[in-house]
Amino acid sequence: MKTWENNVRKVEPYTPGEQPKVNGIIKLNTNENPYPPAPGVREVLKNYNTDTLRKYPDPAISNLCEALAEKYKVNKEQVFVGVGSDDVIAMSFLAFFNSDEPVFFPDITYSFYDVWANLYKIPFEKKALGEDMHIKKEDYYGKNGGVIFPNPNAPTGLMEDLKDVEDIIKNNQDVVVIVDEAYVDFGGKSAVSFIEKYDNLLVVQTFSKSRSMAGMRIGYALGSTKLIKYLNDVKYSFNSYTLSNLAIDAGVAAVKDDEYFKNTCESIVKTREAAKERLKDLGFTFPDSMANFIFATHRSVSAKDIFEALKKKNIYVRYFDKPLIDNYLRITVGTPQEMESLYSALSEILG
Ligand code: PMP
Repeated sequence: MKTWENNVRKVEPYTPGEQPKVNGIIKLNTNENPYPPAPGVREVLKNYNTDTLRKYPDPAISNLCEALAEKYKVNKEQVFVGVGSDDVIAMSFLAFFNSDEPVFFPDITYSFYDVWANLYKIPFEKKALGEDMHIKKEDYYGKNGGVIFPNPNAPTGLMEDLKDVEDIIKNNQDVVVIVDEAYVDFGGKSAVSFIEKYDNLLVVQTFSKSRSMAGMRIGYALGSTKLIKYLNDVKYSFNSYTLSNLAIDAGVAAVKDDEYFKNTCESIVKTREAAKERLKDLGFTFPDSMANFIFATHRSVSAKDIFEALKKKNIYVRYFDKPLIDNYLRITVGTPQEMESLYSALSEILG
């Protein structure tokens, strides 16, 4: 190793799901939405005046904050927008997890949390899930430097009762609690209403799943004015212009079309519920997902073998070669047609 390398901040990065360049594959590996974004988003892109690109975007992202504030019936000072919820959460780790006490999160959860904690040198402690794969709320009551968990959790898909979420917040009023609601729109219940009651609660959501805009990179957080101000102070100390002009306009168009949003979410929920029956018939078991994916294990064939066999048939699902979850597949809910192809491929593979 060269001497200069001693001073390099060495990190073990997060591994995102594959984005294969080949056409004609069925892609059920990164929890993308199989339906296109709202028609209004297409209009924004079609009519875009490229002269707008000469100018920097609005650093406060006001139009989108206002549209989201209207949707959630909060003030725009209670809304923070970032480049996908990854950006919002990374910024939140930097802003809010600044203690010598460990941050608590589940041992089976979004695998970016420990990456950010390591990047910023934040101590953390992972809390084991229960046998039923649910979060054990009492584990989060001890002294800590902050709490974060997704609800529904990923990759299990399990939703915690809002009463239990509130108990975790109630028992952690001296630290910031982040509820990552990336998958809440597929039948889950949001903790957003608690932000008026608890000024230390940050609820994070994204346009990547329920709004079909993973490629546009828009995420947001809702919290008390005080919390959002602290988050903005960190953002402005890092990068003032996070979202492009185009992303801001497209995001506003997506928020305005509530009917399209509701319809596509309903379709996915319907396909997911049908998938539970079909996968059960094929010999899979899984936690009862409330997200746009199912975390399934097979009674006789290993997840790794199924993953590889599906890939040969041009069907991509997600496999995590990690302790505790290395016999599970995370299958994103696609269109009914994509799911039919998945079931036929699985029947062939499983004999
Ligand atoms: N939280 C969870 C639990 C996720 O699974 C994801 C998607 N990888 C994200 C946050 C980040 O999504 P995005 O940055 O696309 O908003």
